Amino acid sequence: LRVSFSVIQKESGLIDGVIAVLYDITEQEKIEQERREFVANVSHELRTPLTTMRSYLEALADGAWKDDEIAPQFLNVTQTETERMIRLVNDLLQLSKLDRTEYRINKDFVNFTVFFDKIIDRFEMTKSQHVSFVRNIPKEALFVEIDTDKITQVLDNIISNALKYSPEGGKVTFTIDKLSSDIQIRIKDEGVGIPKESVNKIFDRFYRVDKARTRKLGGTGLGLAIAKEMILAHGGDIWAQSVEGQGTTVFFTIPYNPEQEDEWE
Ligand code: ADP
Repeated sequence: LRVSFSVIQKESGLIDGVIAVLYDITEQEKIEQERREFVANVSHELRTPLTTMRSYLEALADGAWKDDEIAPQFLNVTQTETERMIRLVNDLLQLSKLDRTEYRINKDFVNFTVFFDKIIDRFEMTKSQHVSFVRNIPKEALFVEIDTDKITQVLDNIISNALKYSPEGGKVTFTIDKLSSDIQIRIKDEGVGIPKESVNKIFDRFYRVDKARTRKLGGTGLGLAIAKEMILAHGGDIWAQSVEGQGTTVFFTIPYNPEQEDEWE
């Protein structure tokens, strides 16, 4: 809080009054600090793969390229790091689009139960681990107004996390609940879980519970931040619950108006 005083004085020199102005700089300063942190984070995230690549390329240039065994390994590292940087830059571009005030979403009326089922099918077809899928999805049609590309990405980010942090043989449960004015989607895993103090932070940009581990798993730390922006743009909400060592559930809601459905039947 900043305060400035002005004294009102009459020509005679008598003081007539005082004006005090209070400026609330806390909000503005918070935004500015977040911006600084964001730039620092981006720089750090880009520097890490770049310095890794530099040392591997130096080693190759110094003669490692002649070694039939080492050279392909070193090239593989530089390839992995390049891919990580591409993912990171793509995520950053996504976020910067979402930050623009003129940002618009292209909504369509979609039967969410069918839409959700198809996305789960795709993961079931391509998943590489032994994780079983359980679906608690109502048979009835649930029409909602969504930007299908955006919600596909939200689900991709949440489901790939659920798989990433699941143990072999784990179970991932997909649920849709119809509430009074929205539908609630839940994706529950039996993975490593998240410490209590971190559960609310996982939707922050670049927040990771375990930097080293998630970097190994190829994460950018932006997936859930993007998901959050997209859900908020739909007028929904997103949050998580977790018990360390037992698993995590990510919830989100999408506004739902049961009366609107009649028009579409
Ligand atoms: P990342 O690209 O690192 O996965 P996200 O924004 O998707 O970034 O997630 C942020 C962090 O939240 C992850 O690094 C991880 O620590 C934690 N997290 C997200 N989903 C889960 C989950 N299902 N189980 C355990 N931890 C999770």
